Amino acid sequence: MLTTSPHHQADQSYQGFEQGPIRPPSEAPSLLLRVMRNCPWNRCKFCPVYKGTEFSIRPVAHVKRDIDAIYDCVQALSKHSPEAGSRLGAPAAIFPAPLVDRQAWQAARHWVRYGRRSVFLQDANSLVLQPEDLIEILQHLRHRFPEVRRVTCYARSTTVARMADEDLAALREAGLNRVHIGMESGADQVLKMIHKGTTKKRQIMAGVKIKQAGMELSEYYMPGLGGCSLWELNATETAAALNQINPDFIRIRTLALPCDTPLYDDYQTGKFAKCSDVLMAQELLLFLESLSGVTSIIKNDHILNLLPEVEGKLPQDRERLLNIVRAFLALEPPPPISLPGRAEAGDFFPVGRSAGPDQGRTGGRVLPPARDHP
Ligand code: SF4
Repeated sequence: MLTTSPHHQADQSYQGFEQGPIRPPSEAPSLLLRVMRNCPWNRCKFCPVYKGTEFSIRPVAHVKRDIDAIYDCVQALSKHSPEAGSRLGAPAAIFPAPLVDRQAWQAARHWVRYGRRSVFLQDANSLVLQPEDLIEILQHLRHRFPEVRRVTCYARSTTVARMADEDLAALREAGLNRVHIGMESGADQVLKMIHKGTTKKRQIMAGVKIKQAGMELSEYYMPGLGGCSLWELNATETAAALNQINPDFIRIRTLALPCDTPLYDDYQTGKFAKCSDVLMAQELLLFLESLSGVTSIIKNDHILNLLPEVEGKLPQDRERLLNIVRAFLALEPPPPISLPGRAEAGDFFPVGRSAGPDQGRTGGRVLPPARDHP
C-alpha cells in the first residue's frame, strides 16, 4: 500500500509525514514518529524548544498513515536491493516520486540504515494522548514492524503521576517500553523558580509508576539549574528523589542558557546568578556523593555537558566517577570563576578526555545553543 492509496486519499486534512524538532541523543538511530506537536506545558524557563508554538495532538489516523508511509518506503527500499536501505547513500534515483512522501522516504532510509530496531514517539509529552489512542498507534506500529524492539517517548511527571496504573501497564503491553522524564531538579524551590509545573513528590510518584509498569526509565538531572543560591539543594534534593525512584538511567544535562529563554532574561537582569564551571562541578560531586542505594546507569550524553567522562554504572563505578570530578576540581591553575561570553555563546565547553594542561578546565570548543530534551 502506497501513501496515496484510495483508503488514505479520503482524508484531505493529512499534510504528510511529520517529524518534530528534538529527540534524546540515545534515539539517534530511531524512527521519529510524531504523535503530538510541541509542548502542552511550554513554561519551563530554561527551555527554548517550543516557545512560540502551539500544542496539538495529531489524529490517530494521521499517525497511522505516517507509519504506513514508512512501511511503503521500507518495502520500496528492500525491493530495489536488499542492501539498498543499509547505506545512507541509497541511490536517489530509486525514490518513487510522486507516490511516496519525500520526508517519509528520508526518515525510512535513515531508519533502515540503523537496523529498524527502535522508535521514538514525539514531541514533548506523548503520554498526554488518550491511552487507547496511543495503544492503537502502538498496535499499528507493531503490526507493520514486528521487528521493533524499543519504543520510547518523553513524558512530564505531572502527566504520568495522574495516569492509572492499568493504562501504563496496557501501554507497556502494547510496546512502549522506555520513558524519558525531564526531572531536571528534585528541589521544590528550584522547580518553582524555573516554572517546571511539578513537585519533588510528583516526580517521585511518576518515576515509581513507570518502573512499576515494567518500563525502562530515564530521568534527567540538570546541574546548575539552581544557580549560585540553590546549587547545593539542587544536588541533594535531586539525588534524594532519584534514590527513591532508582531509574534505569540518570542522564545529566548541564544547564545551558540559550538567549531565547526566560531564564536567560533573568540572568541578564541579575535575577538568576549562573554557576561557574567550578561551582557546577562541585554540584555534580555533591550530587554523586548523595546518590545512595541506586543501581542506575549514569549517562552524560549531551554535547554541551560539562565533564562528559562522568559516565558509568552505579554502584560499582561510584568512586571512579567521583574521582573524575575531584581531578577536575584539583586542576591548576584555577580557571576564571565566570566567563561572561559563554552564556551568549550557548554556554558550556565539554572538557575533552585529551585536553592538555594548557587547555585546563575549558579545553573544548564553543558550541551553538541547543538542547535535546524536555
Ligand atoms: S522542558 Fe519539557 S515540559 Fe518544559 S517547556 Fe520544555 S518541552 Fe515543555
